[in-house]
Amino acid sequence: MKLTTIGCWGGYPYQNQGTTSYLLTGEDGFQLLMDVGSRALNELEKEISPLDLDAVIISHYHPDHVADLGVLRHYRQLYPKNLWQPRVLPTYGHDEDEGEFAKLTLEGVSQGIAYDVNGTETIGPFTISFIKTVHPVVCYAMRIVEHESGQVLVFTGDSGYFEELLPFTAGADLFLADVYLYAGQERHPAHLTSKEAGEIAAQAGVKKLVLTHLPQFGPENTESDNHLELLRQQAADYAPSVSVDLAEPHKFWDLGKL
Ligand SMILES: [Zn+2]
Repeated sequence: MKLTTIGCWGGYPYQNQGTTSYLLTGEDGFQLLMDVGSRALNELEKEISPLDLDAVIISHYHPDHVADLGVLRHYRQLYPKNLWQPRVLPTYGHDEDEGEFAKLTLEGVSQGIAYDVNGTETIGPFTISFIKTVHPVVCYAMRIVEHESGQVLVFTGDSGYFEELLPFTAGADLFLADVYLYAGQERHPAHLTSKEAGEIAAQAGVKKLVLTHLPQFGPENTESDNHLELLRQQAADYAPSVSVDLAEPHKFWDLGKL
């Protein structure tokens, strides 16, 4: 499977780049969009037609993860019917916030589906299991296994550190981790630090750690040109055996070639 970055800033879009959204493409061509942050629709259009999406999955309902969900639906709702055969878009999310979950459905356009957080969900070529994260609102991390290739992707959604995240991540090919914070701010109630992500990646034995939900500023909110490289280096210091990348829009990884 191939993971393509659509947006990767944390909290709000910045300098013409968007917030959390990733396109996961199966070996069979299945297109799953994970989170739909601010600017996601425009950036997605640079990769594929939004009409070609097969499903959407949402980690949680903070605006930087769902901001463009409404306009994605409008795109498919308003696209001339003589130019495509309309298809209802399956949109997976948790139903522990009824008001937000209800918004996933727009009749004839998208259908909200509550994912089974205690079991697994099969979406196209992927089997997905879930674990509740440490975050101010209910959020689920996802472990995504592609049937055909056996490749494994773990996406934290947004999360502070918790012990169970390590076994959940064990043996993943690629670990896509929310790293909004620098080393020294460990055990935060909403996000991982570079050190925590590095330690989990190393102990879990992943091949590749990709840092996402990136901070706009340096440590102590300083302005700097190389703060993201500092963040990457901090994570790498705690994961010497793991290759560590920063996400950036349109950067992609083929999990079969890591
Ligand atoms: Zn969040």
